[in-house]
Amino acid sequence: MQQGAGKPVLLVALGGNALIEKGQVGTMEEQFENLKRPMAQIAALSQTHRIILTHGNAPQVGNLLLQQECCNAVPHLPLEILVAQTQGQMGYMLESTLDTAIMESGLKSTPGLVSLISYVVVDENDPAFQNPSKPIGPSFSSRKASNLPYPTQKTAKGYRRVVASPKPLTVVEKREIRKLIDMDFLVICCGGGGIPVVREGRRFCGVDAVIDKDLASAKLAEEVGVDIFVIATDVDGAALHYGGNHQKYLRAMTLTEAQRYLKSGHFPPGSMGPKVEAAVEFVRHTGNRAVISSVRAIKDAVEKKAGTEVVPP
Ligand code: ADP
Ligand code: MG
Repeated sequence: MQQGAGKPVLLVALGGNALIEKGQVGTMEEQFENLKRPMAQIAALSQTHRIILTHGNAPQVGNLLLQQECCNAVPHLPLEILVAQTQGQMGYMLESTLDTAIMESGLKSTPGLVSLISYVVVDENDPAFQNPSKPIGPSFSSRKASNLPYPTQKTAKGYRRVVASPKPLTVVEKREIRKLIDMDFLVICCGGGGIPVVREGRRFCGVDAVIDKDLASAKLAEEVGVDIFVIATDVDGAALHYGGNHQKYLRAMTLTEAQRYLKSGHFPPGSMGPKVEAAVEFVRHTGNRAVISSVRAIKDAVEKKAGTEVVPP
């Protein structure tokens, strides 16, 4: 069955931070409300595209970790299990909000929705295990951060806990995802960058890490063969001199320019850095379109009216 054949395949990677806006604490009401706008756009785009939706989980998985650290009455869960929990929790939130958006819009064709638990293979010798760099959970003042029992790093959002973030090597369910897309299902997968696993002989074994969802999404986009890759976050795109007096959002940058700006520190690790790296990897390997945009402008980004596009050469 190839019902979706002919429609271009679009992968939208939704930022975990985009679900909790600046100044919000991240109640479920806030997160469901924030999801409405991106999901209305995804619903509209489903008429013209086959869609894969991935999402981050940095605030959510960090919050879960904090929650369980507040309680010693039951066994603590490893990070990989918490990532799996956020895939379930956020899969439900995305799917139900999208379902409502599709129903409310009265669209002609309504795609079936599937949320898929997904694992992503990493290398057990990845140097990232020795150097935690992925910010998760809430942000703290520098005074509070210096008294916390775990490593933190200064980010654009304040001091945040950091965990190991090894590079994604392959998405285990890539063939299943491709089949579902070909059957015109809209697939929500690779939540939180995927459950991190290493191969041990013939089996997979979960590891304590959070994979960057932008890099995991680029890997999936390449492995599944998508036509357009949109990375949707809480800013308009990639800017030079971000936060400074000469801040300038880019509408496009070539692969060569992107590499140069990465090297000169315009796009820091743990936030804009992996988005630009992900777009670069995808464009370099496929020659297809990659755009970094705001969650408010996903449809515009697909229509080349917003965002920062990474273009060859
Ligand atoms: P997400 O949850 O969408 O992955 P991140 O916090 O990881 O969000 O990345 C988006 C953030 O990157 C923005 O909120 C912004 O503070 C930060 N940022 C850092 N450098 C830049 C830059 N050069 N251009 C735009 N945003 C940047
Ligand atoms: Mg991020």
